[in-house]
Amino acid sequence: MLSARIPNHVRKAVYKRDGYRCALCDNNRGLQIHHYCPRSQGGCNHPMNLITLCWNCHAIIHGTRLAGYDFMDEEALTQACAEYLGDYYAPDWYPYDG
Ligand SMILES: [Zn+2]
Ligand SMILES: [Zn+2]
Repeated sequence: MLSARIPNHVRKAVYKRDGYRCALCDNNRGLQIHHYCPRSQGGCNHPMNLITLCWNCHAIIHGTRLAGYDFMDEEALTQACAEYLGDYYAPDWYPYDG
């Protein structure tokens, strides 16, 4: 898909903002960047729409079931992302456009 890639400087800025750890469970391994509002729904590559997740949380938030993972479910993780980003960028957070 065209322009789906997050520019490297944005990627680095998001990792740095989140302390090179999963924003939700503090894991520092297998880090990936998640779009709060998916690209397919118009979500942009702005840091306000991006959050650092470990591959476990990232898989769960996309609806994959992982054996042995009981930290949070898909809905709780999505809510936690909204709270994390909302707190960080308050009072101006909006995930849907850039
Ligand atoms: Zn994702
Ligand atoms: Zn995690």
